[in-house]
Amino acid sequence: MPPVAKVEPITTARALRGPFDYLRPDGVGVGSVLVVPFGHRDVVGVVVALAETSELADDRLVAPRRVLDHDLPPELVELAGWMAAEYCSTPARALSLVSPPPGARAKLAWWATPAATAAAAAASDAGEGEGDKARPLSERQRALLDGLREHGARAAGSDLPALRRLAGRGLVTLERRTVRRYVSHEAVGARRVQPPPLTPDQLRVLGEVELELGRAAPEPLLLHGVTGSGKTEIYLRAAATALDHGRGVIVLVPEIGLTPQIVSRFADRFGDTVAVLHSKLSAGERHDEWSRLRSGAARVCIGPRSAVFAPIELLGLIVLDEEHDASYKHEGDPRYDARHVAARRAQQAGALLLAGSATPRPESVHRLRRVRLRHRVDAQAMPPVQIVDMRETAGALHPDTSHALVDASKSIVLLNRRGWSNFVDCRSCGHAWMCPQCDVALVLHRSRAQLSCHHCGHRERVPARCTQCGSVSVARHGAGTERLEHDLTQIGHEVFRLDADVADAGAVLRRFEQARRGILVGTQMVAKGHDFPDVTLAVVVDADGTLRFPDFRAEERTFALVTQLAGRAGRGPAGGRVLVQTLSPDAPSISAAARHDADGFLEGELMRREALRYPPFSHLIRIVVSAPELAAMREAAQAVRVQLGAIETAQVLGPAPLFRLRGRERAQLVIKAGDRAGAVRAAGAAVDAVAADRRRRGVAYSVDVDPQ
Ligand code: ADP
Ligand code: ZN
Ligand code: ZN
Repeated sequence: MPPVAKVEPITTARALRGPFDYLRPDGVGVGSVLVVPFGHRDVVGVVVALAETSELADDRLVAPRRVLDHDLPPELVELAGWMAAEYCSTPARALSLVSPPPGARAKLAWWATPAATAAAAAASDAGEGEGDKARPLSERQRALLDGLREHGARAAGSDLPALRRLAGRGLVTLERRTVRRYVSHEAVGARRVQPPPLTPDQLRVLGEVELELGRAAPEPLLLHGVTGSGKTEIYLRAAATALDHGRGVIVLVPEIGLTPQIVSRFADRFGDTVAVLHSKLSAGERHDEWSRLRSGAARVCIGPRSAVFAPIELLGLIVLDEEHDASYKHEGDPRYDARHVAARRAQQAGALLLAGSATPRPESVHRLRRVRLRHRVDAQAMPPVQIVDMRETAGALHPDTSHALVDASKSIVLLNRRGWSNFVDCRSCGHAWMCPQCDVALVLHRSRAQLSCHHCGHRERVPARCTQCGSVSVARHGAGTERLEHDLTQIGHEVFRLDADVADAGAVLRRFEQARRGILVGTQMVAKGHDFPDVTLAVVVDADGTLRFPDFRAEERTFALVTQLAGRAGRGPAGGRVLVQTLSPDAPSISAAARHDADGFLEGELMRREALRYPPFSHLIRIVVSAPELAAMREAAQAVRVQLGAIETAQVLGPAPLFRLRGRERAQLVIKAGDRAGAVRAAGAAVDAVAADRRRRGVAYSVDVDPQ
């Protein structure tokens, strides 16, 4: 083996350019995790390559301090290198994403095993040990020993003192063993361990999936199936096939807390070979789940976007459930998109990428081969959707909506705004309460008696009087989920609120599931993949909410939100219906969603994108420049613009001002490029060049490839 290990220290410093050479201890290879002396301290680093020689002088080549227990599969080291380049980040930052969970260790406990020695045999014959220990066993000791002989080894637990005495007599061996911290899976919805027989539609789709699974280099598939069409059952069958072939499986889901059903369905079907990785686990649980995956004891990993880095070797399948979901995009550095990383990882491993959604992104429809499930499992009709024109109505709810809510026993109401009211101002002088750190209005949260900024988290007390003119007449405008919750209780049903202000989303969903009557009201969280068969009514309160964003994805998001919410209604024998309140009843995204016309929407949307050269017909890169001072920020943004110059096959837009955030003035530049890799390199080089000028202190730059 070559004597030099090239190590990338896991630090967040951008200026650092690794890897650095160290002596290679025995057994260390690509993916080994080491503690190395680095400058004046010790840091954790990952071996990214081995080499025969180093450019360092022999006496400067030092040995690592320690080799850690965990190592990474070499594929993940390669994936991190790719990610660093793809997202204009550093290898160290990319490696920190794929590395074993830090901090935790294996949990050890005493284990007792019956000894298979002569002493033990004698004891079982005569009821006593040998020599000076030849006292009879107490009844308790006898019972302990018999239990052990019957069941084999077990954790000592509170019997440890008694077992120690037996060990002293040579009857039992005690040793430290690793014990696993079990993660419990929440059971929500009907449990079904036996797979149901597939519908003909599902059989056809599964046939396509299995054909790809059998290939050496499978072509990615997009499973476009209406809500309730049985996509999850396809994922389960595909996973079973992959496991049969001896291959591992990753299942990516938007948010575990909101979609516990899919975890329990996998756990019910495959048992202990399923591991979960998500942020709600304790450090110890995460350590153990990671180790089970790394050792191969678990072969299926379910989790949100970071589970795309699960240390599974011989990967055969990556499922991307609800592939349209915005949570797949990571908003830290590297700003990776788990869908894009999953595609790369699948390709690298020769695994099948199976993306599924009822509302796939136009990009995915354009790029992937599509298989369809056009009907709900039990051939139930999609719920009729009625558009409610709000242009003549004051207040949050149309009278028709209120009547429907009174009649329905169980309903879901979506309003994509948290809090009580959107903004607060003075009736006398017009003073509006704004965030001191950001140029946005503060939102009233009445239960906390606070005004809060939804961008930076700033909070202040609700004002009793105007800070400008002293008037006590303060007006609240607009309604959020908190206000709507309050208004809906007038209807007489129990109301359950679900939004980011609620501590335990799973508990709210469980209580709503168990209730016989009730209204679930909340933000887009209520539109996730919940399967409650007794919900007969779904309402979108302000369908234009997402349309008003100045973003080329506004139409796509609106279509997805309305369709997904509609998909929660009428899943049971009682059927259901959907009301969509809007000020723009003719918007294509809203009318297409009302017709359940995904094809019509996608076709129109792709034409629009092509005409405007938006993805998938170009790649976007967004550079945000920020600084405490407006002048410094503007100068730096202009300098980036100049550095970008004329990139071939790309168009550079901006700098355009953004609203002040967390006390920083901001502007953005957007690159629309044909050649992705070239534009990423140009963006990285431009930012590095401008950032290298030390006179620009306090200026920060972020590069976002494929911004969402
Ligand atoms: P989707 O993920 O497409 O929204 P699900 O997979 O959640 O749909 O399926 C909807 C419901 O239909 C679930 O309760 C599921 O257990 C059930 N289901 C799926 N496939 C079948 C089948 N072949 N026969 C009977 N029930 C099924
Ligand atoms: Zn005032
Ligand atoms: Zn703020």
